[in-house]
Amino acid sequence: MISKDISLAVQHLNQNGIIGFPTETVYGLAGNAFDTEAIHKIFEVKKRPTFNPLIVHIKGIEDLTQVATEIPPIAYELANAFWPGPLTLILKKQPYIPDLVTANQDTVAVRVPNHPVALELLHQLDFPLVAPSANPFKSISPTSAEHVENYFGNQINMVLEGGECSAGIESTIIGFENNRVVVYRLGALALEEIEKVSGSVTLLNKKDKKPIAPGMLLKHYAPKTDFILTRNVQEELDWYSDKKIGLLLYNSFMPDFERKNQIVLSEESDLKIAASKLYHAMHKLDKMNLDLIIAERLPEYGLGISINDRLERASKK
Ligand code: AMP
Ligand code: MG
Repeated sequence: MISKDISLAVQHLNQNGIIGFPTETVYGLAGNAFDTEAIHKIFEVKKRPTFNPLIVHIKGIEDLTQVATEIPPIAYELANAFWPGPLTLILKKQPYIPDLVTANQDTVAVRVPNHPVALELLHQLDFPLVAPSANPFKSISPTSAEHVENYFGNQINMVLEGGECSAGIESTIIGFENNRVVVYRLGALALEEIEKVSGSVTLLNKKDKKPIAPGMLLKHYAPKTDFILTRNVQEELDWYSDKKIGLLLYNSFMPDFERKNQIVLSEESDLKIAASKLYHAMHKLDKMNLDLIIAERLPEYGLGISINDRLERASKK
């Protein structure tokens, strides 16, 4: 059930329930961060393996020490600069954070979401919320209440309506190692923005670490329809000329191809707008009964890097 009733959401969360809730990145599947019954339900409903830890959502920086400890000064600087917002910090956890939240690691992921409904909800609760994205494991992330309802229906207590997500892709996740900022997952906050505050950051090498962040799994964010990513859309169109094709394009339509099977992410070449429309476009194309979706690679700077990361994972077999 989709509803705008925040007090109903509070009731469910106070009684071991789980709900879909809006954030500026994507919709989350939320439960009380200290309630293992609710957390178990989240893993079950998402079919998410328990080695994948969850992000804890707090109402403000003043609650950070409730969940984390040994917080380095640079973490406070970044939190002050970007919270509420799409930046998740990996920090040493407080001992009472359930192991299920952190996948038995001694670190916890935490952020303050920048969405009025999410913040109002968190203010009315006396606990933080754990919330992975509200989609089945590996499928396309949800950016509207309807997406969540379509995925989970009666398996969850309700979906709190908050409109379409403004950022539209997941948060950027960073940690701190030997006084350096390490990027675990690219996301809605561009690395260039972080570097203005912290100096240069290090990208975690995909090959030398186990995937402790599911966003780092090779296949993720994937539509059911076959999906390929390319720099040269025309070449792929020629190659697959016998198939029913949909196009996911950056800033312009292909002239000699059916318009209704094309989605352009941002005619004004604005990467922020492109990010906000990405999953919505993928959901839409996935529903069109196509044989194949051909996605065009975006420019490799700013949020283009994060969007390409998602497109690459969506295209993995
Ligand atoms: P999701 O909201 O489903 O995209 O998942 C939340 C993201 O936060 C995942 O990529 C998690 O693995 C990541 N995450 C949560 N806790 C940690 C942690 N302690 N260390 C690294 N990544 C984490
Ligand atoms: Mg996810």
